[in-house]
Amino acid sequence: MMPLITHQLQQQCKYHFRVLIGLFLLLISQNCWASTLSGVPLRLTSDSITKIELQDWVYANQSNDIENLTTLLQRPENSWKKIDTNQPYKIGIKNYWVSFSIFNPNDHLSRIIALDNPLLDSVKIYHLINGELVSTEVMGDSLPFKQRPLESNIFLYPVNFEPGDTHTFYLKIDSKGSISLPLVLWSSNDLTRLTETKNLFSGMQIGLLLAICLFSLFIALASASYSYSYYSGYVLGLTLLTATIHGVSFRYLWPQWPIIQQYIFIIIIPLTLGFSLMFTEKVLQLKYHNLKMLRICRIMAVLCFGLTIIMPFINYSFALYFLAFVVLTMSTILMAFSLIQAFGGQRNAPLYAIGRMGLMVGCIITGLIYLGLITLSISPQIPVMIGLTFEVITMAAVLALRYNDERKAKFEIQQQTLEQAQRLREIREEALRNEAENSEKLEQMVQERTLELEITLRELNEVNQKLTEQNTIDSLTGVKNRSAFDRRLIAEGRISRRQQTPMSLLMIDIDKFKNINDQYGHLSGDYTIKMIANTLCEYVKRPTDLVSRFGGEEFAIILPCTDIEGALLVAEQIRQAISELTIVHNGHTIPLTVSIGVSETIIESDEHPMLLLEQADKALYKAKRSGRNKVCYYPLETDEI
Ligand code: GH3
Ligand code: MG
Ligand code: MG
Repeated sequence: MMPLITHQLQQQCKYHFRVLIGLFLLLISQNCWASTLSGVPLRLTSDSITKIELQDWVYANQSNDIENLTTLLQRPENSWKKIDTNQPYKIGIKNYWVSFSIFNPNDHLSRIIALDNPLLDSVKIYHLINGELVSTEVMGDSLPFKQRPLESNIFLYPVNFEPGDTHTFYLKIDSKGSISLPLVLWSSNDLTRLTETKNLFSGMQIGLLLAICLFSLFIALASASYSYSYYSGYVLGLTLLTATIHGVSFRYLWPQWPIIQQYIFIIIIPLTLGFSLMFTEKVLQLKYHNLKMLRICRIMAVLCFGLTIIMPFINYSFALYFLAFVVLTMSTILMAFSLIQAFGGQRNAPLYAIGRMGLMVGCIITGLIYLGLITLSISPQIPVMIGLTFEVITMAAVLALRYNDERKAKFEIQQQTLEQAQRLREIREEALRNEAENSEKLEQMVQERTLELEITLRELNEVNQKLTEQNTIDSLTGVKNRSAFDRRLIAEGRISRRQQTPMSLLMIDIDKFKNINDQYGHLSGDYTIKMIANTLCEYVKRPTDLVSRFGGEEFAIILPCTDIEGALLVAEQIRQAISELTIVHNGHTIPLTVSIGVSETIIESDEHPMLLLEQADKALYKAKRSGRNKVCYYPLETDEI
C-alpha cells in the first residue's frame, strides 16, 4: 500500500510542479511529442486497480485550428498521435485536442477522471457513450471556481460506467501556461485519500511559509527594519506562488475572479524576485561593501517591479519564457554576488550563499529528474521544495544574525556614548570642582587681602587719627592747639546759633612771664606753661569744654552752653587755683598768677565768634591793666554785633 501511495503522490505532485520547472527549463518544440500509434480503449474491470494513469491511452490531434467536436470528428484517423510522456512540456497552446476511450465490459463502476494541472485556462470535456454525446463540461481557471463539476483544487470529472459501454472523451484544451496533462482515473476512495494527504502536504508548506512571512512582518513593523520588510515581501510572494501552484489561492482567495488567476503568475514572479533583490542588497550590506553590486541590484529590482506592471499587457507565453530567463539570469547574478562577498570576507555572505546554493541545488536536482537524466525514488518536486524551505530558513537565520550584529553595534555605540557622557560628566565635575576650589582660594585670598587691607586701613586710620589728633594737640602742653581752637570755635558758634544757647570764652595770659624766662630760664618757663595747662584741664570738666594753647603763654577756653555767671565762676576758680599753685623747677619755686578775660554771648551770625574772641582779648587786657591776677568781663556792645 505504501509504495502505491508514494507513487501516487509522486505522480500527482509531479504535474502541478511542472509550472515552476517550466520557468527554469528551456522547452523544445512541440512537433516531436507525439508518436504514431493508433487508438485503443482502456479496458476497465472491477479487478482494475483504482488508480490508472491515462497517459498510455491518450491521443492528441495534430491540427490546431479545430473549434468544435463536429469538425474534429471529420478529421482522418491518422491525424491522432499517441502522446509521448517522455517529452518535456510546452507553454501556451490553443485548440489542443486530446482523446481517450474507456471500455467497461462487465461491472457497474463509478470513477473520477482527474486532471491535476490546476492552472489550465480552459478544458472542455465532450463525453460520448457508445459514440453518442451525453455530456459537455467546461472547466479551467479562466472560469469561476463554482462552475467545476466537483469543487476541488484540481479538475475532476465523475463518470459512471455501465456494463458493455465504451466511453470516449474529447478534451479541448486552451491554456496560456503549462499544458501538462496528468490525466488519472481514480476510484473516489483513493482520490479522497490522496487529496487529503496532498492537501496536508501543501497546507504545511503554505502554513510554514506564511508563518515565516508573518513573523518577519511583525519584526519588520516592530523594529522598522527594511531588511525584514523585504524578506517578508519575498516570503509572501513565495507563499502566494506556492498556494497558486497548488490551486489553493484560486479556490479560497479569488474564486469569483478567474482574471486574477490568469495573471497572478506573471505578476507575482517578478514581484517576489524584486523583493528578493532588495532583501539581498540589505542583507549583504552592499551599501557599505560594494557600490557597483548595489547599483546592479537596485537596477534589477526596479526592472522587476517594472515587469510586474508591464507583464499583464504582453503575450502570456512570451511573458512566461521571458520571466524564466529573467529569473535564471538574476538568480545567477545574485549567486555570484553572494559568492564574491563571501570570499571577500563579508560576515553574512557565506550563509546567504549557502541558502541560495540550497535552492539552486534543489532546482537542478528537480530539473534533472524531470529531464530523466537522474532517477531518484522521491517526488521530483521534493528537492526544490527542500531547497526552497532551506533557503527561506537560511535567509531567516542570516537576517537574525544581521539583526543581532546591528543590535550589538547599537549596544556598543550606546555603551561608548554612555562612557563618553560619563567622561564628560567627570571632566565637567572636575572643572567645577577646580573652579570651586579656585574661587574658594580666590575668595580666601581676597578675604586675606581684604583683611590685610582693612588692617592696614585701620592702622592707617589710627595713624591718621593720631596724626590728626597730633595736629590738633599742642606738643608742649598736651592740650589742643590754636588750629583746633579755631575750628572748635566755629563749630560751637553754629551750635549756639542753632540752639540759641549761650557760649563763653576765657582768655588766659600768664602775668609777667618774660620775667620768669629771664629769671629762671626758658626751660623753667616751658615747665611753668605745662603746669598751668594741667591746672586748666583740672578745672574744666565738661566733655564739651575745650582747653587750648592760644599762643606763647596764652590759653583760651571754650565753654559751650555756659552763661556769663558760670564762665566767671570757672575763671575765678582757675585764677585762684593758679595763684595758689606752687611750681618748683630746678630747685626754684616759681610764683605765678594769671589774668583772665571773659566774654559770653548767644551767637547770631557767622562773624559773631570772632567778635566773642576779640571781646575776651579786650577783657584780658582790661584785667592786665587793672593790675593783673584778675578776672575781667567785657560785656558785648549791641552795636558791635
Ligand atoms: P604781662 O603779660 O604781665 O604784661 O607781662 P609779660 O612779661 O608776660 O609780657 P608778654 O606777655 O608780652 O611776654 C610774653 C613773654 O613770654 C615773651 C616770651 O619771652 C615769653 N614766652 C612766650 N612764649 C614762651 C614759651 O613758649 N616759653 C618760654 N619760656 N617763654 C615764652
Ligand atoms: Mg602774653
Ligand atoms: Mg604774659
